[in-house]
Formats: sequence, structure tokens, C-alpha cells
Amino acid sequence: MRKGMSAMINLAEELKGVRTVAIAGHVRPDGDAIGSCLGLYHYLKKNYPEIEAKVYLEQIPDAYRIIAGVDEVICQTGAETEADLFFCLDCADEKRLGDFAVLCKKARRTVCIDHHISNGGFADENYIVPDASSTSELVFGVLEEEKIPYESAEALYMGIVHDTGVFRHSCTSPETMEIAARLMKKGIDGSKIINRTYYDKTYHQNQILGRALLESILLMDKKIIFSAIRQKEMDFYGVTPSDLDGIVQILMSTSGTEVAIFLYETEPQTFKVSLRSREIVDVSVVAAYFGGGGHVRAAGCTMQGSIYDVVNNITLHIEEQLRQENSCD
Ligand code: 5GP
Ligand code: MN
Repeated sequence: MRKGMSAMINLAEELKGVRTVAIAGHVRPDGDAIGSCLGLYHYLKKNYPEIEAKVYLEQIPDAYRIIAGVDEVICQTGAETEADLFFCLDCADEKRLGDFAVLCKKARRTVCIDHHISNGGFADENYIVPDASSTSELVFGVLEEEKIPYESAEALYMGIVHDTGVFRHSCTSPETMEIAARLMKKGIDGSKIINRTYYDKTYHQNQILGRALLESILLMDKKIIFSAIRQKEMDFYGVTPSDLDGIVQILMSTSGTEVAIFLYETEPQTFKVSLRSREIVDVSVVAAYFGGGGHVRAAGCTMQGSIYDVVNNITLHIEEQLRQENSCD
């Protein structure tokens, strides 16, 4: 059993007598939130046709359109919120469900499957494995492999690809690779999924990436790389927040750095903060201090103040962790 593993979900048991299922993931859904939700959705549609299943996610970026079922995702809650069973996927707390938290509150029973270290287990049943690469990997584990349809395999593979940075981050385990291989055996086009949903960028996405790289600065003896995009720059290039996905990862590829900090302005004096680390700093602790969360090597939060206030505050916490590390040497 892996470290931090909570009780595995018995899906067939959970679905006994259930007529309506709602599935949702975190706000500003990423590849893993989308992949895990759609992976489960297609499995239920194929194997439990008597169950009415619905997926709720905020607006899905265009790059994910090649994944089957994206068009069926409901972007806003309506009147129908009282599902027999609610699956909360890739979401560390109820707040991160945004408007879809109502589904969790009103459902007869709730099940959470997640890999965020900050998840305290808020559902009736919780399957939380912080060591797992992705929620998609965990969803694979609760499904019967021979019953997984092609569409689920595509979605789950995509989720794993995104949260592992294409099998590159340290969260990629031998189990992750095995699961990816088993999904590939369903006949999916792994290369197409990787290129179209992960690497391909629009011209404007690449332009704003260029801007972020051009204006990045090194701090703390080159241990930290930092960049920020203001609202007026986003307007100039005609981009939205989801077009900025991946920038922090490219900043992090600057050799010699330990932490990458990327901010973008959501409102005047309010910034969405993305943090990545290489080997030493636990950025989930830094993000949690400022009301956010995430993983040891990838985390985020929202902060108020000027760009300089935000950077100074975060840098203090990173400096503290690096100092402690040095004093242990
Ligand atoms: P990103 O930097 O890509 O937005 O997020 C990195 C990781 O941190 C993801 O796992 C994401 O779910 C988590 N994360 C980002 N922002 C927040 C936040 O404001 N609150 C919490 N709890 N987690 C966040
Ligand atoms: Mn995830």
C-alpha cells in the first residue's frame, strides 16, 4: 500500500441503487480535473446506462476539445443539484469546487478521489493518495480494467500526462507508467493526446509566454525565478488566464533555479500565484500559508497587494525553507 493511502473506493457497491450521479472537479479545471471527471463519466455511461450521470466543470480551454465528452460538460449549475451520488475529483476542499460546491452540499452521498496533500477528507467517503501522480491515476484504480471504454482511456491518459508534465515530474512512479501503458493498450493515440492537449500553443499563447520569459527576473542568488503578467498585458495580447497555463513550468526549466513564481492579475491588486519547485522547497506549505494549497512541487494561491508585496511575502517563506535546509547540511 502506498504512503498516505486511504481506503480504496468500491465503485460497484457505491453505485448500488443509485439513479443520478454528479461529477465535478476544481475551478479553472486543468488536464487532470478534466481527464478524471470525463474518465469516470464515460465509464458510467458505458457500464451503467440506467444511471443518469452528469459532469460539471468550469469552462474548458479549447485545447481539450479533442477529448470525447467535453461538449457534454455542464458549465453552470441549474436547478438539478440533488444527485444520489456526487463524485468530487481532483479537488482538495469544497471551496475549490467554486459554484459546484452546492452539488456536494445537496447530494445524498459524496465520494472524493484526490491526490492533494492538503485534502483533509471532507466527503462521506474519501480516497486520497498524496503520493499518486494524478487523480486520473486513482480513478483508473477504482475502475474494472476490462470494462474501461476507449473514451475513458483517452481522458485518463490525458489527465496523467498533464499532472506528470508528460511523465517527467517526480510524482511519476512505476505504477504511473504501468497504468499509462495499460491505457495505451485500449488503442488510444497517446502521441496525439500529448501534442494537442499539452504542447501545442496558439500564436498568442506563445507571444505571452515570450513576454513572461523576457521580463522574468532572478532573485535570491538566482535560486528563484519570477515573472508576472498584468491585466493590461493580457488585454494587449488578447489572452485569458487559461492561455497562461504552462508558463510557470517553462520558467522552472531555467537551470540553477529552485523555485519558480508566476503571477497574473485577476483584479486590480489581486494576483493568482503559481509556484513550482525543483528539489528542496515544499511550495504546498508556502501556498497554504497564504490560503491556497497544492502539492510539494506545484502549488498555488491568490494574494492581494502590489506585485512587489506579493513577491516579497512569498520570497520570505522560500528563503526560510532554504535557510533551514542549509542549516541541516
Ligand atoms: P497551478 O499553479 O497550476 O494553478 O496549480 C498547481 C497546483 O496547486 C494544482 O494542483 C492546483 O490544484 C493547486 N492550487 C492552485 N491554486 C490553488 C488555490 O488557490 N487553492 C488550493 N487549495 N490549491 C490550489
Ligand atoms: Mn491533479
